[in-house]
Amino acid sequence: MRYLTALLLLCTACNTKTDPGVKPKARVAVSIFPLFDLARRVAGDRLDVVLVLPPGRSEHSYDPTPKEMAKVADAKLGVSVGLQMDEWLERIVKGAAGQGVTIVQLGPKLNPRKMTHDEVGDEAADEARPAGEAEHHHGPQDPHFWLDPVRTQQAVDLLVDAFTTLDKEGAAGFRQRGDAIKASIATLHQSIEARVKTWTHKTIVTFHGSMGYYAERYGLTIAAVIEPFPGREPTAKYLTEVLAALKKTNTVALFSEPQLEKRPAQVIADQAKVKLFEIDPVGGTAGVDTYEKLLGHDTDVLEQALK
Ligand SMILES: [Zn+2]
Repeated sequence: MRYLTALLLLCTACNTKTDPGVKPKARVAVSIFPLFDLARRVAGDRLDVVLVLPPGRSEHSYDPTPKEMAKVADAKLGVSVGLQMDEWLERIVKGAAGQGVTIVQLGPKLNPRKMTHDEVGDEAADEARPAGEAEHHHGPQDPHFWLDPVRTQQAVDLLVDAFTTLDKEGAAGFRQRGDAIKASIATLHQSIEARVKTWTHKTIVTFHGSMGYYAERYGLTIAAVIEPFPGREPTAKYLTEVLAALKKTNTVALFSEPQLEKRPAQVIADQAKVKLFEIDPVGGTAGVDTYEKLLGHDTDVLEQALK
């Protein structure tokens, strides 16, 4: 007992002596892995950045366990994509940290692209509208901006700004690390641009509407999207349309995603006799555990299919 008291006194003493002004790090909760990776690198050791969506889960619907909720308690800032994709972030962070938390949505500030008919399909778009399905449907604007390395560089600036508002003394470090990350992403962008130019085929069919920004940036065409609204099985009529689009456009490969049910993609690939590949829009698992590795991996897979 005496030892414990002494130890406590000692610790209190050393804490106050060595670092009188030390404040606990402000916690920042980030919805999905690609943004989390950028945020933790911009933050350095100034902020406590936590990832909300566990790797391997779809970004379009998420219900956290109490243990996962505890991770975001006391957060001062929440960072999300917005554009109706990760509305769960705001609900979770406000539920755990209270109404005082600031939420920054990056997507609406990055000149979001509109999804085309081929990406959403008229019928599927109509079906997805009823209330109560908000978690599963894409808005008319495409939320997946992080798959465009050019917009992602602007997102880094937005993170620097948001972190500077939260922690003014950290401003110089945020800016410096942000600039280094942007330089790294600029290099990545140049390398992807050069690689895509060497591919023979430029038309793809994807599992859900995640690749629109990437396709637009690098000159690929998306002939169709199999399951425009993740978690919602496509109708037979829509699948027929997808098959017709595959044939008409001479699409050589189909792309499923690890976060979603693979079966509908496999069925179509078998029927159309095209190869099925797997791209990963979110990452966070082994081999795709930084933003640059994630985009590099997806480019490798696309290259394998299209070169
Ligand atoms: Zn998505």
